[in-house]
Amino acid sequence: MKASQFLISTLRDAPADAEVVSHKLMMRAGFIKKLGAGVYTYMPMGLRVIRKVEAIVREEMNRAGAIECTMPVVQPGDLWRETGRFDKMGEELLRFKDRHDNDFVIQPTSEEVVTDIARQDFRSYKQLPKNLYQIQTKFRDERRPRFGLMRGREFIMKDAYSFDKDADGAKASYQNMAQAYRRIFDRFGLNYRAVAADSGAIGGDLSEEFQVIAATGEDAIVYCPESDYAANIEKAEALAPTQARPAASQPMQVTPTPGKSTCADVAELLNVPLQSTVKSLVLATDVLDEAGAVKGSEVWLLLVRGDHDMNEVKVGKVPGLNQGFRFATEEEIVDHFGTRPGYLGPINTRKPVRLVVDRDVAVMADWICGANEVDAHITGVNWGRDLPEPEVVADIRNIVEGDLSPCGKGKLAIERGIEIGHVFYLGTKYSKAMNATFLDVNGKTQFFEMGCYGIGVTRLPAAAIEQNHDERGMIWPESIAPFTVVICPIGMDRSEAVKAEATKLYETLLAAGVDVILDDRGERPGVMFADWELIGVPHRVVLSDRGIQAGECEYQFRRDAEAQKLPLAGMDAWLL
Ligand code: ATP
Ligand code: MG
Ligand code: MG
Ligand code: MG
Repeated sequence: MKASQFLISTLRDAPADAEVVSHKLMMRAGFIKKLGAGVYTYMPMGLRVIRKVEAIVREEMNRAGAIECTMPVVQPGDLWRETGRFDKMGEELLRFKDRHDNDFVIQPTSEEVVTDIARQDFRSYKQLPKNLYQIQTKFRDERRPRFGLMRGREFIMKDAYSFDKDADGAKASYQNMAQAYRRIFDRFGLNYRAVAADSGAIGGDLSEEFQVIAATGEDAIVYCPESDYAANIEKAEALAPTQARPAASQPMQVTPTPGKSTCADVAELLNVPLQSTVKSLVLATDVLDEAGAVKGSEVWLLLVRGDHDMNEVKVGKVPGLNQGFRFATEEEIVDHFGTRPGYLGPINTRKPVRLVVDRDVAVMADWICGANEVDAHITGVNWGRDLPEPEVVADIRNIVEGDLSPCGKGKLAIERGIEIGHVFYLGTKYSKAMNATFLDVNGKTQFFEMGCYGIGVTRLPAAAIEQNHDERGMIWPESIAPFTVVICPIGMDRSEAVKAEATKLYETLLAAGVDVILDDRGERPGVMFADWELIGVPHRVVLSDRGIQAGECEYQFRRDAEAQKLPLAGMDAWLL
């Protein structure tokens, strides 16, 4: 690929609604373009990564004996009524009608359609086991689409469904997929953990999530460093005995007095040190329902830069984690604080401001609050819950870090993860609901034993970036990098030697099947380097007149701090 013929559109700044690093970098590097909430165009550079993810998934699924098909994105509502999910599924299921007033859904998953295929086409036990998969667009009307591709509404999933003649077969199919998933995620070169997950009504242990370890992950996972015990927090809590524990933090209810709401005052109220010139206020407001009862809380973060330069006051909602926040719109600020951002002097709130957090966020003690910048945080903030019953002021979690692991070998540790895959034994749940049967060896009708297996194809690149980036940009594992090698010729338009050498190296690598891009845009070196570091191409070769005269080029691996001079002669062989 030649850069002049490709689409490279990098931005200096990320849009204000990008909260986490993967979303910011994908926007800045021109990987995705937002069309609406949770709906993105995969731009050419981003699509290259997605296609590589798909190729690895496809190869390993095929190797594991699964067979690819493509099921419709638009599915008849009546099929979904057979399992009851048309009504039961809730608001994540996008439903609509066609011109004949028939109900349809956009697939959030495809158990109904695949079970319908099985009941028509898999008639005998001799045809089993079968595993059908697709790599297809999904739509889930997520309550809170966010973080770019991480939690989109439209996204790509690989979903596979196994059909077996009995429970033992289904469990073997499940294990086969669980193994294939390990091969797939190993090939992505990411740090991940397979954790036990809740298998819902079916019970048993046959549900595992594959979690990429990242501080920005929305899931909490529990593991034992001394054994292979690992579970998501819901599963771990479900199995652990309920225990009353001392509260992780003192419950707090702070009503700032008028005029007493400077950063220092709030820090004092919170009993935390204020650490930098970028100062912050952390506030929470009650969210009231129509009747005026408290239904939850929102945590607000105010950043005040420098010496209270009001033009730079920014307000953001902290979404459970402190890693990111979105800047509130002016309307929201006016709505919550009764004043415009420019006038957030000593804050006058219309509503009492209280330090209260809701359940999802209250599980954390020792928060870091403040600006999303290194050395600009208030550390050690402990949140309390404000719950009406005094006894629930105690921490109601069943599991805390340091508890003895169920394996008995060590103490539990907790970390955060991004769910990139999920394998699930379904039993006969769907086959019974849809009367999907086959004839067994005795000619008797039996319900299929099923399993389902998902991978978040478009979430995966986001997870990869969360785990692999630096201040300059993304750092792709070679297996899914948009390009593996970039050639940056300096002064290609001026120097015949540079042009000739760059073209020669490019063509040699191309012919050898290397995913190489030649930056022939004629940009200045600084611009070229910044672009390719942002895009995160693993290997960069720089050619210049002076280097060529000395028989050298400059090579830099994306993770290295500095470039090294290498002989130009063996470069093609060296890169292969
Ligand atoms: P989550 O807990 O993150 O909402 P899920 O458990 O609802 O995910 P599954 O039904 O298990 O998701 O779907 C299989 C995979 O699809 C998930 O493991 C995840 O990688 C991916 N996925 C699910 N929802 C989204 C989404 N909104 N955006 C991108 N990928 C998603
Ligand atoms: Mg979900
Ligand atoms: Mg989940
Ligand atoms: Mg899941």
